[in-house]
Amino acid sequence: MPRVTFPHMGESYRAFKMLLEDLGNQVILPPRPSKRTLDYGVQYAPEFACFPLKVLMGTYVETCQMGAEIIVTSGGVGPCRAGQYGQIHKRILHHIGYPVELIVFEPPLLHPVDFLRNIRRLNNARLSYRAVWECIRRGWRKLQALDRIEALTHIIRPRELQRGSTSKTYRRVLSYLDQATTLDQITEAEAAALDELKALPQDRERPVLKVGLVGEIYVLLEPASNLEIEETLGHLGVEVDRSMYLTSWTRDNTISHTSVTQQVHQAARPFIPLCIGGHGRETVGHTIVYAQHGYDGVIQLAPFTCIPEIVARTVLTTVSTRYNIPVLTFFLDEQTGKAGMTTRLEAFVDLMRRKKWPALAAGQPAAAI
Ligand code: SF4
Repeated sequence: MPRVTFPHMGESYRAFKMLLEDLGNQVILPPRPSKRTLDYGVQYAPEFACFPLKVLMGTYVETCQMGAEIIVTSGGVGPCRAGQYGQIHKRILHHIGYPVELIVFEPPLLHPVDFLRNIRRLNNARLSYRAVWECIRRGWRKLQALDRIEALTHIIRPRELQRGSTSKTYRRVLSYLDQATTLDQITEAEAAALDELKALPQDRERPVLKVGLVGEIYVLLEPASNLEIEETLGHLGVEVDRSMYLTSWTRDNTISHTSVTQQVHQAARPFIPLCIGGHGRETVGHTIVYAQHGYDGVIQLAPFTCIPEIVARTVLTTVSTRYNIPVLTFFLDEQTGKAGMTTRLEAFVDLMRRKKWPALAAGQPAAAI
């Protein structure tokens, strides 16, 4: 049985593990990115490479050391470096003594033959096409459940009565999905997880701020790369709406753009009329849509040296003024520290509070608001 691995992106590994095992592979689970991962990434990736390339580089070295023979990853469309990741990683890994095979999934509508060839390569159980389709359906359903559960934690965390109870419960209920393998079991596990989170003691009347999170996909989806920004914001009394989940991104890149994405592109058109690679256009479009929906602020997460996000950042200054919405940008790399990030977040939250509840600025205590 070939030993297969893939990049670590939040909790999605739970679905990918099930899918790849169903197809007859032995899965080497990628460890959560850590300082060790970054050290390997910095050691082997080019210095000027963008941050996700370094984190993935480190993850691949770690999983190769654990015996991985095949790495499954996604490609990239548009004019940025994402489309070259697979080749760069492969050359470096071979050069440093890990002769792994890299299977790169490009959007199936653009590359249908490659998609089928990749599936056939991973179908080591020699399942029929119909059975493979069923495996993909179950994996997709598990991804949907993971995204929905995570999105609910963003709503509950700023209202929890006992600090940390949402994160603690979240970590526990995720294990329900690990044991679910059929579609019915996944639906039941999802419902049980959502119910437990909703049952947590909360102050539903507590005034909370609403912030949209925009930016590049990897740093949005991998909490280890964004220093758990969603959790920090939740503890500061902020309800976070993340502009992208793995399921929404996959739908946009496999079937067609959803109506939300079309609306986002429309909003961005006066500033960025074309795809500039990565998620630069979406960053600008989502910021405008968040402003139109009355959000209190937007936070942009950008990997250091990410060109699409740098372009978006220059535009966001105008967008922030024109749409009267505060925007904070974090450029993330291996040097970014959690304490510094938290300090900036606290100042940003204070600014949004005073804008939303001017009595605070007049010196009244928060309890009076
Ligand atoms: S989107 Fe940004 S971080 Fe991702 S590959 Fe392109 S330039 Fe690098």
